[in-house]
Amino acid sequence: MSNELKTNIKKRERREEGWKRNKIKIARLKGEKYVTLKGKVVGPRQTGPSCGCRNKCTDKFTDEEKANIISNLYNGRPKDEQDSYLQSLIECVQIIRRRPRKTQDEARLRISNFHYYMWKGDERIHVCKQAFVSLHGTNSKAVQRLSILLRLGLQPEDQRGKHSSRKLLPDEDLQKIIDHIKIIRSNRYTLETINYMEAQSVVSMYNLFVEKYPELKHKVKYDYYLKLDTNYLEELAS
Ligand SMILES: [Zn+2]
Repeated sequence: MSNELKTNIKKRERREEGWKRNKIKIARLKGEKYVTLKGKVVGPRQTGPSCGCRNKCTDKFTDEEKANIISNLYNGRPKDEQDSYLQSLIECVQIIRRRPRKTQDEARLRISNFHYYMWKGDERIHVCKQAFVSLHGTNSKAVQRLSILLRLGLQPEDQRGKHSSRKLLPDEDLQKIIDHIKIIRSNRYTLETINYMEAQSVVSMYNLFVEKYPELKHKVKYDYYLKLDTNYLEELAS
C-alpha cells in the first residue's frame, strides 16, 4: 500500500470517528439513547423511581409534567447550561448546630445543608433530593457534584473532552480535601491540644493532608488547598 493511500485511509477514519463523537454528543445533550465508541448502550433520559419519602414528592407531578421536565432540560442545549439550570434549583442552607460542651464558651458548628426545588408550572416547589434526582432523570453523584460546586461558589463547567490542564479534580478527591478541612476546622472548637494549634496553620494542614493522601500530593497543590480552606472559612463567617 502506498503511503499516500495509507494517509488517506487514516484521514477518513479520523473523520468518521469525529462524526461518531459528534453524533453521540448531540444524542447525549438531547437525552436520547446512544451507543458509546466502546459499544456501551446508554438509555434515554427518563424519570427515575418514586422518591418514597413521606411527602411523596414525585407523586405531585403528572406523567405529562414529568415528561415535560425531561424534554425541557435535555433539549440539546450545552451541558454547562443544563448544569446551571439544575444548580439554580439547589439552595445551600446554613445550619447552626449547638454542641453540648463541658468547657468555656458554647461551641457553634456551622454546617451546610441543601434544599432542592422543582418547577411545577409556575410554581417552585420544595422536593426531597431523591425526587430531584429522579424527576430530572439524573443520578445522585451528578447532583452531589453540583451541590459541592454551589457550596464553593463555583459555576459548573463541562469536564468532558477538556485537556488535563483545565480538568478539575475528580469529585471524590475534591470531597477528600473538603472533609479534611472540615474535620480540622471544626475541631478548633473542641480540641485544645498543642498539636492541634500547630495544625491551625494552613501549611501544616496541607502537610497533614498529603501525609494522609500521598497519592494526591501531585494533584493537589498547596494553593488549591488554601483556596478551598479560605472558602470554607468564609462560609463559616457568613
Ligand atoms: Zn420525596
